[in-house]
Amino acid sequence: MAGCCELPVSESAKTPCPRCGAIGLAVGDETLTAILEPDAAASLLAVERRFCRTPACSVLYYGADGRCVDKGASRVRVGLKETDDPVPLCYCFGFERADVRREVAETGGSTIPSRITAEVRADRCACEVKNPSGACCLGEVNKAVKEAKVALARTREERAQEPATAVAAKRG
Ligand SMILES: [Zn+2]
Repeated sequence: MAGCCELPVSESAKTPCPRCGAIGLAVGDETLTAILEPDAAASLLAVERRFCRTPACSVLYYGADGRCVDKGASRVRVGLKETDDPVPLCYCFGFERADVRREVAETGGSTIPSRITAEVRADRCACEVKNPSGACCLGEVNKAVKEAKVALARTREERAQEPATAVAAKRG
């Protein structure tokens, strides 16, 4: 794994997000300055800060002292916190959730995680300045592949059960 996928983890101060209560991921200065406008970044550079990973929480980054920066302040769309396309997954190589879904629908699987892994091995990723989380996207990409497979299976199941469901709906 390339060095960009390793994050400094401060074990001493795991401050939870003031809005959702989940413990975010520590982010470095280079991530804040790349993702945020200078004013928003400056307010957080002075304190220990984290990236909130909760999809439904609008907080993007928060400081140990409770200050927050919302996702609207990001220069890029924060895929993790969006449900409507385009949902960026991999910021270094430009893969979106729709790419994963399309591939899974067409082939039943996805080559995207292994393609990203190959790029990471070749040291061509720049997660710490491109991804709002400052971390490697592979976890999110693998999650998206899993979700796309579940959605595909569900669609097939629904199609198989369609006549029965229509009858039940009329009765209900
Ligand atoms: Zn949060």
